[in-house]
Amino acid sequence: MGRAFVYVILGGGVAAGYAAQEFVKRGVSHGELCIISGEPVAPYERPALSKGFLLPEDPARLPSFHCCVGSNEERLTPKWYKEHGIELILGTRVKSVDMRRKTLLTVTGETISYKILIVATGARALKLEEFGVTGSDAENVCYLRDLADATRLVSVMQSCMDGNAVVIGGGYIGMECAASLVINKINVTMVFPEAHCMGRLFSPRIASYYEEFYKSKGVKFIKGTVLTSFDLNSDGKVTAVSLRDGSKLPADMVVIGIGIRANTSLFEGQLTLEKGGIKVNGKMQSSNASVYAVGDVAAFPVKMFAETRRLEHVDSARKTARHAVAAIMEPEKAGEFDYLPFFYSRVFTLSWQFYGDNAGEVIHFGDFSGKTFGAYWINKGHLVGSFLEGGTKEQYEAIAKATRLKPAIEDLVELERQGLGFALTA
Ligand code: FAD
Ligand code: NDP
Repeated sequence: MGRAFVYVILGGGVAAGYAAQEFVKRGVSHGELCIISGEPVAPYERPALSKGFLLPEDPARLPSFHCCVGSNEERLTPKWYKEHGIELILGTRVKSVDMRRKTLLTVTGETISYKILIVATGARALKLEEFGVTGSDAENVCYLRDLADATRLVSVMQSCMDGNAVVIGGGYIGMECAASLVINKINVTMVFPEAHCMGRLFSPRIASYYEEFYKSKGVKFIKGTVLTSFDLNSDGKVTAVSLRDGSKLPADMVVIGIGIRANTSLFEGQLTLEKGGIKVNGKMQSSNASVYAVGDVAAFPVKMFAETRRLEHVDSARKTARHAVAAIMEPEKAGEFDYLPFFYSRVFTLSWQFYGDNAGEVIHFGDFSGKTFGAYWINKGHLVGSFLEGGTKEQYEAIAKATRLKPAIEDLVELERQGLGFALTA
């Protein structure tokens, strides 16, 4: 026995929420759509988990950050799904997919059939064990991917006020959690293998600004090394971490952000995979015409760079989801997805946005000792990427617009001289 739907969204994260909203906007009928999620709550804005959720005072809690509040749109509570006849099957993992029969099998033994499947399974946090280090299941070691992780992180944090935290990884999770830990009055040491933080995006000069800012808040940096083992006490709690450079750091808690893997395992051998994700075309359609993929799990053609990419950011999750639904409901009208990559972060009083691609030569501009500065990336004679810290709404819009235009740049010195003015007049 099982249930049958026209549309099934597998995964109940950011992309699922935005896809549901788009289905409703385009007139899905009651009973046609279902969302199956391993998480026990309706789709929410995952970025809140490393920001508002971790604040010591007046922290963000559900239902306040259900999708789609992150883009200033209506908040889709469980009641909203009910009112629109959308079935939410929560707290239920799918364990296998039979594409020939167009069915999904849940861990509870239920078979759910679809005519069209949207895969929105997102990603999972990489574990230290995958790098040969054991002990990351200790009760004061935290990862951060979902609400359960965030709830646990808050409780661990509350049990070690004024204590020492070691943050492993200098990427997004590391940087945002380190800031939140400091705000919670915890002493933070960040440990990562690269020469500077946010090594995959920031130039050394940009990174150095943030590192100095973090240092002014008391954060210590240990760079160019990795964790090799934990010291555990008789309760199974970590008390110290040992690093490859021979040093040992006392630790009341550890936060780990060492990257993610897209959740593709249900589809291996069934769909074409690329760049660690499910390969889709400009309509988000996979190698099986009845299966679409969106969000972190999708590797899609980024037209402006003539390349297939898998992006791990909320804006692309929202927009790929909406585009897939448009392509499903009105295939003749929906064109090829044409996306300008957009990443951002907010930590302490800082806030930056990045558009495009960080390839080629970097030209910095603005006041690196003040509040507003940025950078352009010039590749093969064209501006392909822009970064701005501390901008206004209009300034961010200007760098986005300029980057989308991919203007030819002949004189780098002149570009540097014009700085933000270049984008404002492009
Ligand atoms: P997810 O939101 O991860 O949702 C996937 C869903 O699928 C989950 O509910 C999961 O339980 C479910 N699922 C997976 N497998 C199964 C299965 N077999 N059966 C049933 N359900 C399943 N991006 C930004 O651009 N800016 C930010 O500030 C930002 N902050 C972030 C902060 C944190 C703490 C994290 C973890 C991510 C952040 N991101 C941010 C990234 C952003 O949240 C992701 O890109 C986005 O959530 C991807 O959406 P998604 O729907 O593809 O996947
Ligand atoms: P990132 O890929 O951003 O960063 C991982 C970091 O860990 C890198 O500095 C990486 O170095 C380092 N690292 C890798 N292996 C090890 C190791 N064995 N020991 C120590 N450090 C290691 O991933 P995160 O985990 O920070 O973030 C997870 C996901 O969440 C990402 O998809 C991200 O986009 C998303 N996210 C986005 C936010 C935003 O957009 N504002 C905020 C929070 C999360 P190297 O580069 O050398 O491999």
